Amino acid sequence: MPTDRLSTVDEHVDRIVEALAPLPPYDQPLLEALGLPVCEDVVAEVDLPGFDNSAMDGYAVCFSDVATASEDQPVHLPVVGEMAAGQSRLLAMSPGTSVRIMTGAPVPQGADAVVPVEWTDGGLASVRINRAPREGEHVRSRGEDVRTGELLLRDGALLGPRQLGLMASVGRSQVRSRPRPRIVVMSTGAELREPGASLGYDSIYDSNSYMLAAAARATGAIAYRVGIVSDEPAEFRDALSDQLVRADLVVTSGGVSKGAYDVVKEVLSEVGTVSFGEVAMQPGKPQGFGFVGEDRTPILTLPGNPVSSYVSFEVFAVPAIRRLMGHEPYRRPTVTAECRQGFSSAPGREQYVRARYDTDARGAHVTPVGGHGSHLLGDLAEANALVVVPAEATAVHGGEAVQVLVLDRDF
Ligand code: AMP
Ligand code: MG
Repeated sequence: MPTDRLSTVDEHVDRIVEALAPLPPYDQPLLEALGLPVCEDVVAEVDLPGFDNSAMDGYAVCFSDVATASEDQPVHLPVVGEMAAGQSRLLAMSPGTSVRIMTGAPVPQGADAVVPVEWTDGGLASVRINRAPREGEHVRSRGEDVRTGELLLRDGALLGPRQLGLMASVGRSQVRSRPRPRIVVMSTGAELREPGASLGYDSIYDSNSYMLAAAARATGAIAYRVGIVSDEPAEFRDALSDQLVRADLVVTSGGVSKGAYDVVKEVLSEVGTVSFGEVAMQPGKPQGFGFVGEDRTPILTLPGNPVSSYVSFEVFAVPAIRRLMGHEPYRRPTVTAECRQGFSSAPGREQYVRARYDTDARGAHVTPVGGHGSHLLGDLAEANALVVVPAEATAVHGGEAVQVLVLDRDF
């Protein structure tokens, strides 16, 4: 990372994404793959439905026998058998007869329509049919939904509930996808305490590790939250090396400023494979990225201020995780919205402004919430979006169109 000038956000995202390779895919049980992109073209190996079956509870008939049936001139047919769903014995029937049939049961050979029970007297030995079906009516034909050889999912398609249902319906128990990346989240700081513990006048609760681990999960990753690590270099070094075995990516918070006791920067600068630089953004200027350990595990070191930490996660860690999952686009796309309230913006750094996003009859709009401070978690929790203000802008005026990252949304 050049030290003479700040990187742009785009440069830093590109640097991260290009340095990471998607995790190798393997066959996974269907539910494990929820929310992941499929890594194969999935072709149907069976027809759906697999056999002609009834869409209704009723009577399988030959259409020509019942074509004229009406209330005034009902048709009477003997009932020669019964077919329930799951029944393997396939009846054949001849003209002039009927078979009682349940929804999903195979339609007997020779039948070409099903009369719903509501159009009959419901007879068991013989049935009176009061209304004529159309030819083929209430019969679901083999292959009418999916045909053998049909492309069901293209490589890269997202496996949501409906896609997984389709995989199961064609008999797949597994599907090829990249594993969910394992993200180890560590927060550093001698002042940090676990929520639930008592606080001294000089200590604060560790919010970042919960927020970042939750954000990693929301991105589709597996998150391991490591307990608080103090600002002791040896402790951080040990904690990090213990965690590497289960990490596809390590995300740290805190300890990367220019102050004393900035343990992450101190320890990782010695290693030489992590670069610390500054990105022209606000909040989130100090950013580190590199690789650690024998397996060259990628690590992102985020600043400790909660808002900076969150924004940095959204802007850098989300693309990193999606890159590991092979989930494009890596970056959350912005949407255009009308900014309902003006504000000033320091030039030279891309601003990420906490805001409420909504839509109404006039379209999408956004209103900044709260102050500028990077420590203001209350405002952050109230926000559901970040307005992205270009580096060169010095102000946003009320009514102006702005670019917005709408948070907590699938993309
Ligand atoms: P640092 O980057 O370590 O200098 O931290 C910057 C600011 O963020 C300080 O006020 C820290 O107390 C605060 N901070 C650091 N880590 C956390 C955390 N895990 N949870 C909440 N606040 C934090
Ligand atoms: Mg600190």
